[in-house]
Amino acid sequence: MPLRVTFLGTAGAIPTTERNPSAIFVAREGEELLFDAGEGTQRQMMRFGTGFSVSHLFVTHLHGDHVLGIPGLLQTMDFNDREEPLTIHTPSGTRRELKGLVNALGNRPSFPVRINEVGDGDVAYRADEYEVRAFATDHDARSVGYALVEDDRKGRFDRERAEELGVPVGPKFSKLHEGESVELEDGTVVDPDQVVGDPRPGRAIVYTGDTRPAAATVEAADEPDLLIHDATFADDRADRAAETAHSTARQAAEIANRAGADRLALMHLSSRYAGRTDAHLEQAREVFAGDETDAFVPDDGQALEIPFPDD
Ligand SMILES: [Zn+2]
Ligand SMILES: [Zn+2]
Repeated sequence: MPLRVTFLGTAGAIPTTERNPSAIFVAREGEELLFDAGEGTQRQMMRFGTGFSVSHLFVTHLHGDHVLGIPGLLQTMDFNDREEPLTIHTPSGTRRELKGLVNALGNRPSFPVRINEVGDGDVAYRADEYEVRAFATDHDARSVGYALVEDDRKGRFDRERAEELGVPVGPKFSKLHEGESVELEDGTVVDPDQVVGDPRPGRAIVYTGDTRPAAATVEAADEPDLLIHDATFADDRADRAAETAHSTARQAAEIANRAGADRLALMHLSSRYAGRTDAHLEQAREVFAGDETDAFVPDDGQALEIPFPDD
């Protein structure tokens, strides 16, 4: 069950020649999700081969560098005669602004566009095996972050133990794994907890969008496999980070530790650091409790597979 994250845009408010404004593409078992869509997102999707079959777009806030790609993306979907609906999740109180962006196409798209307002703690989207939850962030706009959290998986089936207990290989194995007791020919009853281990946690990805360090990020998911955090500035501009409601790389790493994140992607680097990631990396890694290389600054187009924790 692959879970793949592609960083389409990793720039701060002003793009650079190497970095596009914010957009993150997530593919999970045939389903495609997009988080933010800064200007030029559709071209990044072409460049990095993600395709346009996105079913849900999750907007963290309505600053231009996170949403100006929406009209162009919708227009291309329209030219492609898309029919499948697109749901756009957006912070509470921003429906009208978001509608303005959709209306910027000048014509009604060929497919339904649904707008869903979300606030802290809301489940924005419930899928079969996971959900995407919104959580409060601390920025100078109505804003939320998003956590994609998979459901627990079934525990491991102990085949050897089942055979020892006399369960015949076959449908009774799957029944037990599904959580049902089975009766053997001699009348003995075998219960699932005799042969099935504890449920295993699924995977989780947390994306903050623009924010100061915020407590809700820590609570958004239990030990996420990947935290994608605002790291607009390095220590030299820590004052500026606080003033403009952003974070430093060091602060992002502190939040990653508190959340128990395995990996930390430092995003939204200010254009003043164009071409340089050394300060961000060094300062984040001074703090980050995980493996040093797991705190990183993604390049545009970089893709990451998220494995199951115990694989
Ligand atoms: Zn931004
Ligand atoms: Zn912003």
